[in-house]
Order: sequence, then C-alpha cells, then structure tokens
Amino acid sequence: MNPLLANAVSAIQAGVEDYEASDPNRGLSAVRNITAGVLLLFKEKLRRLSPPDSDEVLLKERLRPSLRPDGSITFVGAGRKTVDVQHIKDRFESLHVSVEWDRFDALVRLRNDLEHYYTTASAATVQSVLADALVVLQAFIATALGHEPLDLLGEKTWQTLLNVASVYEKQLQDCRAELSRIDWPHPIYDAVVAEVCCIHCRSPLVKPTNPETSDLTTLEFLCTSCGKTSNFEDTIGDAIAEAFAADAYIAMTDGGDPPLDYCHECGEESFHVESGFCLLCQASLSYEKCGVCGAALGPEDQHGGGLCGYHKWQADRDD
Ligand SMILES: [Zn+2]
Ligand SMILES: [Zn+2]
Ligand SMILES: [Zn+2]
Repeated sequence: MNPLLANAVSAIQAGVEDYEASDPNRGLSAVRNITAGVLLLFKEKLRRLSPPDSDEVLLKERLRPSLRPDGSITFVGAGRKTVDVQHIKDRFESLHVSVEWDRFDALVRLRNDLEHYYTTASAATVQSVLADALVVLQAFIATALGHEPLDLLGEKTWQTLLNVASVYEKQLQDCRAELSRIDWPHPIYDAVVAEVCCIHCRSPLVKPTNPETSDLTTLEFLCTSCGKTSNFEDTIGDAIAEAFAADAYIAMTDGGDPPLDYCHECGEESFHVESGFCLLCQASLSYEKCGVCGAALGPEDQHGGGLCGYHKWQADRDD
C-alpha cells in the first residue's frame, strides 16, 4: 500500500478508536484524526491522477513547467508546500472527481469550531463527525479510489462507522421532523433550518420544545446532545449567518449584492434582501421606491420617509 494511503487508513482507524474510548479528552483527537484521514484519502487520489514523470505534481501547491528530453513540455511540482482544502476542491472539480462536499464542509467546519472555541468534544459531536465522514468515505473510497470501504478500512472500523452513523442519522431525522412542524412563514426558512445547530456544543441534534407556537420569537430549542436550551434569536441568528455565508463571501469577492442587510427594526444583519423581510423580526419595507426618483430603497433608507438618501438630503436642505 502506498504510504499516503496507509497513513489515511491509520488516521481514520485511530479516530474511530478515539471515539470508542468514550473519553471526552479524546473526542477532539477523534475529530482531528478523522478529518485528517479523509483529507489524506483525497490527496491519494490526486497522487494517482498525477502523470508518472511529474513528481506527484497534483499534490503540490505550485506547478512549474519543465522540458522533457524529447522537447515536449510537462508540469512538475515546485516547492515543498502541498495542496490545501481549496486547492483539492478546485483540482477535483476540473478533473471531475465528485465528493459529497456538503458533508465534508460540515466536517471541516466542526473541526475548526472545536479547535478555536472548545477543548473537548462531546460524544454526540464526534458521532456527527463520524456520520458525515461515513457518507463522504462510502462514495469516495468506492468510486474515486476503487476499493471496498470494508476491505480498505478494516471490518472493525467500518462497522463502527456504519453503526454510529445509522443511530445518528435517525436522531437527526427526528430533530428535523420536529423543526418542520414549526409554521415557518416563508420558504426561505428551509435554508436556515438546515443550518440549525446547538449554540453551546454545535451539535445539529436540536429540536424545538414548543413547535406549535404561533409567535416565532418565543420558540425555544433543546439540544438533545448536551441538554442545554437556546432561544429563537441566538439559534436562528447563527443559522441565518451560516445559511448565507457562501453567498455573502461570493458577493464580497466577486462583487454583487450581499444576501443579507442590517435590519432597520432590530438592527441585526438578518434582513434577507431578495425576500424583502427580516428573518429574525419579520420587519418588511414600508417604502420600496423613492417618491421622487423611483430608486429602489433598502432597509437603511426606511427612516427617510419614502425618499432615497439624496432626495432626503435635498428635502432637508430646502426646509
Ligand atoms: Zn448542545
Ligand atoms: Zn429585524
Ligand atoms: Zn430619489
């Protein structure tokens, strides 16, 4: 077995052993090992895809053109830096290697959150990582690497992953079913609900304790992993930021309108521009167009009495 592949397998096996030790102090190690193992498997694929005389070019961050003895041009790896997650995504995309990126992104996000804000990881958090990893691994090992997951990872590791994932997925389904009992006022909340997780431990196993309430702001959420509760504003506020983070990032880097704006009523960055209302306090626009020039008005113009910034300024000056 190639060392890269062997390292990937032992990282995943070590992560599953960390989980099985049921020691909260090894939870973080479990998450780190599993994430590292998945990334190493991705790198193994890039290694296999690299042309034979290229010094494993696809694993290197930088590429350098080089002349073959026959005068033709090839690319070889330059420097010591290897690919990061974004490079792997870009290369897989151009080489048509498919990955369950949603699950993988959830895995990496949780790993990063844990590294930055927590010193231990609860069993439930590790279970969610194993469940996400299973979905990614199942498809990737079989399709991209051409191995049987059970043969590659060993029966013990694979069985544990399967068992943990099926229990976890069942719990997640139950929580999501409870969340869908809430009378959400607009379809845009589908995207938000998909990102709901516990503000205390980041577990997605969160359900409402009062889903039949008619006033969204009185919703209370219970985390079935850590047992703590959280209110509507904190839980949905976090989920809103998460749900539109990718769009906000694209708007920031490639230009275009950001999906969210600061709400003129509650002041939070939760006004969904396209839907025309605030996802937290439900405030909508009293004035949509300037009464003089017809320019579109946003939340920040609502205190201008139906005038755009310029015409409000002009009206104030003429007074
Ligand atoms: Zn929790
Ligand atoms: Zn608001
Ligand atoms: Zn105007």
